[in-house]
Amino acid sequence: MKSLLSFSFSFLLLSSHAQSSDWQQTVDYQINVGVDHQKNTATGQEKVVYSNHSHDTIRTLYFHLYWNAMKKGSHSFERMAEMGSNYSDLTQDDFGQIDVTSISVNSVPLVMDVYESIGKVVLKDPLLPGKDVVIDLQFTSKIPSCINRAGKNNRSGTDYTFTQWYPKLCRYDKQGWHTDPYFGREFAGTFGRFNVKIQCDPSFTVAGTGVLKNKKYLSKGWEEAGKQTKSTPTVWEFNAENVHDFAFAMDREWRHEQKRIDEIDFHFFYPEKNAQSWKNLIDNWHKSYAICKENFGTYPWPQFSFIQAGEGYMEYPMCTMLEGASDFYSTACHEFMHSYFYGFYGTDENLHHWMDEGLTTYAEARISNINGDVLEGNEGNSDYILYSSFGEAEPMATAANHFQLDFGYWNSAYFKARVFVELIQYMIGDETIRKGFGRYYNLWKFKHPEPNDFVKVMEDVSDMELTWFQNYWINTNQTINVGIDTIQKTNNGVSFTLYRNGIPMPLDVQVTYKDGSTQRFHIPLDLTNNVKKEFKTRPTILQAWSCGAPRYTVSLENRKLSEVISIEVDPDGYLPDDKEDNLYEK
Ligand SMILES: [Zn+2]
Repeated sequence: MKSLLSFSFSFLLLSSHAQSSDWQQTVDYQINVGVDHQKNTATGQEKVVYSNHSHDTIRTLYFHLYWNAMKKGSHSFERMAEMGSNYSDLTQDDFGQIDVTSISVNSVPLVMDVYESIGKVVLKDPLLPGKDVVIDLQFTSKIPSCINRAGKNNRSGTDYTFTQWYPKLCRYDKQGWHTDPYFGREFAGTFGRFNVKIQCDPSFTVAGTGVLKNKKYLSKGWEEAGKQTKSTPTVWEFNAENVHDFAFAMDREWRHEQKRIDEIDFHFFYPEKNAQSWKNLIDNWHKSYAICKENFGTYPWPQFSFIQAGEGYMEYPMCTMLEGASDFYSTACHEFMHSYFYGFYGTDENLHHWMDEGLTTYAEARISNINGDVLEGNEGNSDYILYSSFGEAEPMATAANHFQLDFGYWNSAYFKARVFVELIQYMIGDETIRKGFGRYYNLWKFKHPEPNDFVKVMEDVSDMELTWFQNYWINTNQTINVGIDTIQKTNNGVSFTLYRNGIPMPLDVQVTYKDGSTQRFHIPLDLTNNVKKEFKTRPTILQAWSCGAPRYTVSLENRKLSEVISIEVDPDGYLPDDKEDNLYEK
């Protein structure tokens, strides 16, 4: 008990002017879990020290009981079906659940009131600001089939995936409790420490969050192979500091390889049959990590494991579950980048999914680009335009759990969100946004940043105002549409008029003359207050276009109409708009 209470989170709680709020709760979990592979059950004891650093008195605790979403007839199944998943042919064996069989808080036995995947415990004595409670609980689980992130026997043959598997305190922050039910989507957690002991048959290898403490039991590539006896269950003990979740998986057949890069141990767990595609990841990973480190900062934990397990591909702190059997290099990069935006930034993935999936997708494209192809910064446009064509767009500000359809969620969280970052890059410049990610890292790691915090950082490094763009792109369904309206002779030359509707943007325009020469113009937008400083092709900077004016005229003095061969708006193709009206050609 002493060791639990004496742990200090002070490094997390250093007050910073940058924090969305000046406090965050902390947790300290000790979990012992036994996995019975014959009955497909798990039984655990869990002790949590929950520290209330808020200014509030807390009278009720809430827990996630995610595997209750896998109960037959759960509302989660109905909701997931409504959003587009198909679970119509499940049998009794596929369903799972988790039951809390006892709970006490500060040694006072209490009752957990369970509704679907959320458990509620009313405290006998309120938890005052600045105080801790010690929660002791016991739980048993029926392990579901691995059809929704977690469970037994996944499609690629991994025996067990334990994700969202233990009673987990919901997050409490300045908005109060976040008691989001589980619909197979996203997570939010509280930073803290985990000590997890997993008891299982010695035939299994276990891999997951944290650093393995008792390496003497290890086999299949870990140190001191083959020392365990066949008859006694093995206990695998993991420690993780400064994480907001703990996941693991177990398999009898995995190969295990390890690579150390910059003092970080990268582990790879995969079946022999998929060795070829894993070889590609293992051989090239150092190249991707080097790009990642340069652009997005140093990975802050001592270990990361790529594990073939789970359903689909899913991120957890210090590890990822990859179902992939064939070419999954860029997806592995994607999942690793989640260690940043979901992992140590600790963004709320339900409320601000785009800050996780969108930034991760943006970063994935960069760290998987190990052949050094030039990325223009508009690669996300095609996916965004494609997905937008599938149905009515839903605002990016929609919570992950509450999109009407999967398409709406995917487009908002991944594609439209990636374009959001790429359009900021377009407005402030490649090197400036890189600086912005560095500043974001220094200010916000382990601090649960929110949308304003990301945008503010980009404003700080660029000296441009971007809040207006955040509002348009995230809260509305408006799109960008610019074009050439007219071109006309004037008293002293030629002029052309542009029009715009929807979201205003700073614009580049290129004019090509009969003699082969070109002229570049940059039209700033008044809303940004300042002008972009980085250009690949040096333009003539014109007067800002007012956000209140639907039209804007550019004069080409001392030119003849017959000299102008073409005028092109957005000549580098950065904007995801209707291109049809962007080009005037004689
Ligand atoms: Zn993702």
